[in-house]
Amino acid sequence: MPQLSQRLQQLIGMSRALGAPGADCIILGEGNTSADADAESFFVKASGTSLVDIDAGGFVRVSRSTLRELLSEKSLTDEQVGQGLIAASIDADGVRPSVETFLHALLLDLPGIEFVGHTHPTPINALLCSQRPEEAIRGRLFPDEVVCCGPESAWIPYTDPGLPLAKAVGAAVDDFIERWNEPPKVIMMQNHGMIAMGGSTAQVLAATSMAVKAAHVRLGAAAYGGIRPLTDSELERIYTRPDEHYRQQLLNR
Ligand SMILES: [Zn+2]
Repeated sequence: MPQLSQRLQQLIGMSRALGAPGADCIILGEGNTSADADAESFFVKASGTSLVDIDAGGFVRVSRSTLRELLSEKSLTDEQVGQGLIAASIDADGVRPSVETFLHALLLDLPGIEFVGHTHPTPINALLCSQRPEEAIRGRLFPDEVVCCGPESAWIPYTDPGLPLAKAVGAAVDDFIERWNEPPKVIMMQNHGMIAMGGSTAQVLAATSMAVKAAHVRLGAAAYGGIRPLTDSELERIYTRPDEHYRQQLLNR
């Protein structure tokens, strides 16, 4: 595990890239990011900070075990959630972890996942806020989308942010792992936004920017007779090709 300060610098770089205006992924205080710190803790964005110019003071280190305990509760009041987030904070220095900290706790516990970036990209939300969102994001359109975003995205019907959303994402991720034998690279949440995750900042940034590109392509294809996703056999071929695996590994470095 790299030093804490080095890990935080990686997270700051990834967060600013996701927050850059040209990326069209978020504005103002939207979105949140996280990274493994050590076996007992991780860094997550503090509530009310902006990703575009975030620095070390914009993150809080939180305890994994405290969050695991909270996640195991059947239900918690808003007040209990607030108190739990404060209890989970390590040296918080007056800032509070994001309400989506539960989501990050759950995803960073998955095998191979060390960085998580949650954003609300405009073209992706155009699809996720449409009348047929599941159909709009279904399947994969071209080989690079398979390489960067995985064989499909996990799908989450609209859910109240915070603990309920974390539990819904947990169930969808379990279902995805059952089918594909690995965690999803991209999670799409109805009327909300996307989550990208991986073993490196490069993977999170590649999954996010390729998902944004694919959303533009989907919107364009919809205006030209409809989306034609890769067939199951075309997808399978890309997903299992050794040269495409090699490209995936390069992103992991
Ligand atoms: Zn969000």
